Amino acid sequence: EKLYRIQGWGEPYFSINAAGHVTVSPKGDHGGSLDLYQLVEALRRRNIELPLLIRFSDILADRIERLNACFAKAIARYNYPNVYRGVYPIKCNQHRHIVESLVRYGKPYHFGLEAGSKPELMIALATLEPVANPQNNQFPLLICNGYKDQEYIETALLATRLGQRPIIVIEQLEEVDLILKISRQFEIKPIVGVRAKLSSKGIGRWGNSAGDRAKFGLTIPEILTVVNRLEACQMLDCLQLLHFHIGSQISSISVIKDAIREAAQIYGELVKLGAHMQYLDVGGGLGVDYDGSKTNFYASKNYNMQNYANDIVAEVKEACEERNITAPVLVSESGRAIAAHHSVLIFDVLGTNEVPRTPPIAVEEKEHLIIRNLRETYNSINEDNYQETFHDAAQFKEEAISLFNFGYLSLKERSKAEQLYWACCGKILEIARKQEYVPDDLEDLEKIMASIYYVNLSVFQSAADAWAIDQLFPIMPIHRLTEEPTQRGILADLTCDSDGKIDKFIDLTDVKSVLELHPFKNPDRSDNEPYYLGMFLMGAYQEIMGNLHNLFGDTNVVHITTNPKGYQIEYLVKGDTISEVLGYVQYNAEDLLENIRRRTEQALQDNRITLEESQLLLQDYERSLRRYTYLMDND
Ligand code: PLP
Repeated sequence: EKLYRIQGWGEPYFSINAAGHVTVSPKGDHGGSLDLYQLVEALRRRNIELPLLIRFSDILADRIERLNACFAKAIARYNYPNVYRGVYPIKCNQHRHIVESLVRYGKPYHFGLEAGSKPELMIALATLEPVANPQNNQFPLLICNGYKDQEYIETALLATRLGQRPIIVIEQLEEVDLILKISRQFEIKPIVGVRAKLSSKGIGRWGNSAGDRAKFGLTIPEILTVVNRLEACQMLDCLQLLHFHIGSQISSISVIKDAIREAAQIYGELVKLGAHMQYLDVGGGLGVDYDGSKTNFYASKNYNMQNYANDIVAEVKEACEERNITAPVLVSESGRAIAAHHSVLIFDVLGTNEVPRTPPIAVEEKEHLIIRNLRETYNSINEDNYQETFHDAAQFKEEAISLFNFGYLSLKERSKAEQLYWACCGKILEIARKQEYVPDDLEDLEKIMASIYYVNLSVFQSAADAWAIDQLFPIMPIHRLTEEPTQRGILADLTCDSDGKIDKFIDLTDVKSVLELHPFKNPDRSDNEPYYLGMFLMGAYQEIMGNLHNLFGDTNVVHITTNPKGYQIEYLVKGDTISEVLGYVQYNAEDLLENIRRRTEQALQDNRITLEESQLLLQDYERSLRRYTYLMDND
């Protein structure tokens, strides 16, 4: 448990059972748990192949419940005289089953949706129930963010005729005139918000969503221009919402507090200017503790959901009391904190490449001096000289390569020199691991000696942020956890791209370059036993950011819901077939197949292939077109 820090990032959903398997408790503390390894085996028996994304719908429900419970508690604690109305930002994970489930689970809390683009607006308008009674505040909000053209605004405004109540958030000055024009044309009074560029900045990977030069939002002079334009058209009463978003995954609570304080003042000033303000929308940013360290490290956060809600409620209440104005409905747009936990990516190890750790046994009579030096270095390594011998071995290895390049060392001799060098590193590493303090120059030793675990996935498709912005996700075996993981490895994916690897793993407020893993071939059990790894907290942003590098397509996805009898596969969304991904790049599977058929006929005529071979080739080609893009078990 300690090794993979599962308690830190996994509670209350993931843990380890006595059999050494990861377990999932989708309802958090309120329900039973599932053995993840057994679940994967059961899914494979249904011919659902790996890599496989498992979505636990009950976790989504639990996240919504928690967020609302935290705000309800904060509102009660501080006697806040208004309500919380959260919205889910569709961009975080747009998949239909997720958005529909969230709307269903969010119903008791009037949980709404946020759209950041026209396609997302179209999802929101068709998914959210129309508002029956707009007077009573008991309905989910629909926040319309992002760049807007005429069609976007027209669609949003006309949807009010269907019973929707979209709040159109102005992010660019040009949008004001468009909104005014369209609302006049249809005689529909819009509900308008403004997105402020705060000077309080986020930190970390997504930190530049705020500040004067942020991509979105209005500066204070621009907000005043909006106020003046609305006022000139007697429509200042339409301005009802103030929005800001200082970036995703805010790891420090003090940054959030600063932003709320600034926003609450702007809100108060807008009220003073005569806007009929009703909503303060604090955007996203509520972080996820990916490394379990509970610190302000970028993969973590130094606060919990309750602290977040408390600070928002307390700050806004205080600012409103000081100004003697009505407290707003509090809105947040948390995506990551709602969606991240519910998805786990399961993938299998296909093979490993290990650095040889034993020196070549055969000592030849006329061994080259450099080989003799390396062998002597190997034999002399001990606790007192391990740092010094590391430098000797490295230097001898460099010399061996130079000698080879000048033609003084044969290929066989170079091979021996390299093997001896690895053997030295292995021996030194074993000593270094036992030391309390590891000298700086030896820190890379783990990396040098790491095994490569080839895994059945594409980092570009399934964990885009791990590749693009070095985001850290917890990764661990989902079984064999009673066995000591004696190996240290990095993960290499299926793509022919040297960036298609994972060599940064969570560590306590740090990043480590190797992951503790088990020997791929389990010595105690059958050779064919698969080795499954899980990548956790994958539900936010990864799926839609994934790309088709090397034409590895969408993975299989299952939605699991739990019930008193165990679990049920609510939905199965099959991953892309080869013919589908070929279609994305404008190939037609039928044409390709026909082309190959014609070529086999030609080869048959020329006696370059037998009839049986040609039929096997065509059969394989045709079958592959219908198959998953990832590697499958050999028959
Ligand atoms: N709201 C807006 C405007 C955003 O741009 C984002 C994403 O960056 C979010 C909400 C969701 O943020 P998070 O996933 O950090 O909750």
